[in-house]
Amino acid sequence: MYSEMLLDAAHRPDHKKIPAKNVVKEKIANPMCGDDLEVGLTLNDGAIEGAWWQGRGCLVCCGTAEILCEHICTKKVVAVKKIKASEVYKLIGFRPTPSRETCALLSFQAVQKILGE
Ligand SMILES: [Zn+2]
Repeated sequence: MYSEMLLDAAHRPDHKKIPAKNVVKEKIANPMCGDDLEVGLTLNDGAIEGAWWQGRGCLVCCGTAEILCEHICTKKVVAVKKIKASEVYKLIGFRPTPSRETCALLSFQAVQKILGE
């Protein structure tokens, strides 16, 4: 049902640790599913030097957070601001059902908030 990529990311997260210093953090929750995330970005000179997440949630939520963090770190802020929800679905390798869309987009929404939409 879910992509290989998503399962892999959810089970072996490299970005699941928010550093103590120099991060801009945003908490976001999806009460419908019980997802509770915090996303943190290390910004430097218009670029995202590091992208991190922590918290708990369903497979879709955690897997997407990991894939998204991996995708946006080292990218320019202007480029990341242009990312659309449809691109997030491409990254995770499947289109979530309507009830799972919030799960998949939770980390993405936190990133957008941090970057100021
Ligand atoms: Zn969820």
